[in-house]
Amino acid sequence: MATEFTLPHWYDLHTHFRQDETLQATVKDHIHMNCAGALAMPNTAPPVGKLFEADKPENYKSIEQYHAEILAASDGRFKEVIVPLYLTKDTSPDMIEKGARAGILKACKYYPPHGTTGAESGAPLDTYMENGVFQAMADTGVTLCVHGEEHGLDPERYFDRGENAEMIFYQERMPRLVDNFPGLRIVGEHLTTKVAVDFIQDTPSHVKGNITPQHLIYTIGHLLKGLKYHLYCLPLVKYSEDRAALRKAATSPNNTKFFAGTDSAPHVQKMTACGCAAGCYTGRIAPQLYAQAFEMAGVDLSDQAGQAIFKNFLCTIGQEFYDLPEPEETFTLEKKPENVQPLKVGDQTIIPLPLGMDFDMTWRIKP
Ligand SMILES: [Zn+2]
Repeated sequence: MATEFTLPHWYDLHTHFRQDETLQATVKDHIHMNCAGALAMPNTAPPVGKLFEADKPENYKSIEQYHAEILAASDGRFKEVIVPLYLTKDTSPDMIEKGARAGILKACKYYPPHGTTGAESGAPLDTYMENGVFQAMADTGVTLCVHGEEHGLDPERYFDRGENAEMIFYQERMPRLVDNFPGLRIVGEHLTTKVAVDFIQDTPSHVKGNITPQHLIYTIGHLLKGLKYHLYCLPLVKYSEDRAALRKAATSPNNTKFFAGTDSAPHVQKMTACGCAAGCYTGRIAPQLYAQAFEMAGVDLSDQAGQAIFKNFLCTIGQEFYDLPEPEETFTLEKKPENVQPLKVGDQTIIPLPLGMDFDMTWRIKP
């Protein structure tokens, strides 16, 4: 008998919808995988760097506008969407207070300058520690979403056996951040290392972390063997001991800290003339991938206790943390092979992650 189990609709609390045609297509894929909404990252072109459309400067997109575009693309299917404000050199404590008061500002996103796709507008973390922005966020209950990688490192320190950009960030900057702003709600986005997991585990309950499917499934060897560039995302997949720590954190029966955020990122052109765009696309297939990852981590999803652990990670912890409406609709995952297809956007193609990875998907959403 096929294994199947039913879950409530869920929120993808770290995703990239981009803009224009790509936004229309990727929102549809999120609806197809039964998302009730999402936290949609603001590194669009142009970046979401202001609150309202009428605000200055003109060269930023506004939360007001992007939020409306996503809801319209969802055709009424999303219950709620959070658009964080992209922290830039123009972000001020006044903006935070104004946005929080108006109810439009729920979160801000910190990008390490030039640290990933669309991170050109970021300023170093210390800027906001010193200029009152983080204090204003702590005072108004606005969540800080952190891309936790140290910026500007030499390649030797960026990724090595003993240290890497995420480890350095979680060893040097995060402790100061958490200590200096004890009331600030923080999410460590897309965690990839044992150091980051251990750090989040030891913090108070208003500090949490999210984990992508790819970081639960793969290690750096999967990327390097055959140079599977579709697995190239930032932060990079790491070593097996890091993956073990991520798996243990996500699949613990006592998990109160770690939740789903796919970091699904559509790229129509993954390879460039002399580099590679960072980001893996997992629209349509993220719950299936997470289910498979949980089984790889030893969770028995044919058992109610295992299903409860999975639901806690996918559906509950993040929804409660962001105080999002609890969905009433449900969907069913069943143990059958999933047929993964590229996503067409106009005359271009986005390749979802497991294609080309020598990876057979074992769960699908019951039609
Ligand atoms: Zn991201």
